[in-house]
Amino acid sequence: QRVGFALVGLGHLTLGEILPAFGQCKHAKPVALVSGDADKMAKAAQQYGIKASSCYSYQTYDQLKNNPEVQVIYIVLPNSMHHEFTIRGAQAGKHILCEKPMADSAKQCEEMIAACNKAGKKLMIAYRIQYEPLNRAAMKLVRDKAYGTPKLIQMMNCQNEAHDQQWRHKKALAGGGSLPDVGLYCLNTTRFLLGEEPTEVSAQLYSTPGDDRFREIEENVSFTLRFPSGVISQCMCGYGSFNGKSYAVHAETGTIKMDPAFTYQGLKQELVHAPGGKQVVEQPSNPHKQQFALEMDHMAECVRGNKTPYTPGEEGLQDQRIMEAIYQSAKENRPVKLPAVSKLDAFR
Ligand code: NAD
Repeated sequence: QRVGFALVGLGHLTLGEILPAFGQCKHAKPVALVSGDADKMAKAAQQYGIKASSCYSYQTYDQLKNNPEVQVIYIVLPNSMHHEFTIRGAQAGKHILCEKPMADSAKQCEEMIAACNKAGKKLMIAYRIQYEPLNRAAMKLVRDKAYGTPKLIQMMNCQNEAHDQQWRHKKALAGGGSLPDVGLYCLNTTRFLLGEEPTEVSAQLYSTPGDDRFREIEENVSFTLRFPSGVISQCMCGYGSFNGKSYAVHAETGTIKMDPAFTYQGLKQELVHAPGGKQVVEQPSNPHKQQFALEMDHMAECVRGNKTPYTPGEEGLQDQRIMEAIYQSAKENRPVKLPAVSKLDAFR
């Protein structure tokens, strides 16, 4: 018997990626929907074999507590709604899988963790990259020091966000601009690859004057993370330039490149090193596993086996704390020290 999921929010990600991905899941299945658009929901329900009685509005969301088929609620709403819907979901007695970024502030993240703990329910943040096979292979190469000690990392995640009136350009719904949306991949993936926590950040922000999209939120962010091992990771994210979604980890005797690293499909890895003095470039094959299916199956297995997810709420909280330090650094034009965190990697 697969673990039943309720999907909250029927936007691009749910309809385009998540619902189709259930077809590749071994342990998870969609059993309920929550949306503000009854017609769209009826269509999706019919397509995925979900009962009309298991379709809810944002107002009737709390009635999920009376639906025993639902074990996990997957929250795929605009960022600023994650906090409320996680807490209401936990109070309805369900485990929560919440899209990134976890929330708008560290305080909200702490409240979400507390609500899930109080209800005795699991909380996982949907960091799909940490479940994706090529990125996992890169993590292993870095942590095993396959090419010696890692020294320098470069990460980039930018896209030219459409000019329409979408929530991503509104501070009250998005919490911020390119940083919490796409820059978060650079931050979270650096931490994932290294398995250590940064001790200091320094950052700069820039938004094109007169561009309406960036009246409330930032366009570009450049931030540098320093790690206890000595690694320096230089990250850039943007909302006004053509797609760049790549990284390179430069270690003593080789470089691990991913380009693209953060897309849904078509990820490519390149390993550049010089065994015996002659430079070689290897391109490991991509197992083409569906990232969202792997991520949802992980949550389902954690629920079944009563295990802590690999990317729990604490992981989202740590990223949120670092993003707050990034904004502070840019605002005050100085490096900002981060408090020591030692236990997080125990979750991995
Ligand atoms: P979207 O705009 O396509 O969908 C958002 C949904 O929320 C829509 O169905 C919309 O109707 C609904 N909604 C409810 N209340 C709303 C309100 N007040 N204002 C606007 N919309 C409202 O967005 P999306 O791209 O599906 O993103 C949803 C979430 O998923 C975000 O948190 C985003 O960061 C995350 N996301 C994650 C990934 C990933 O790869 N993990 C990719 C894309 C988006």
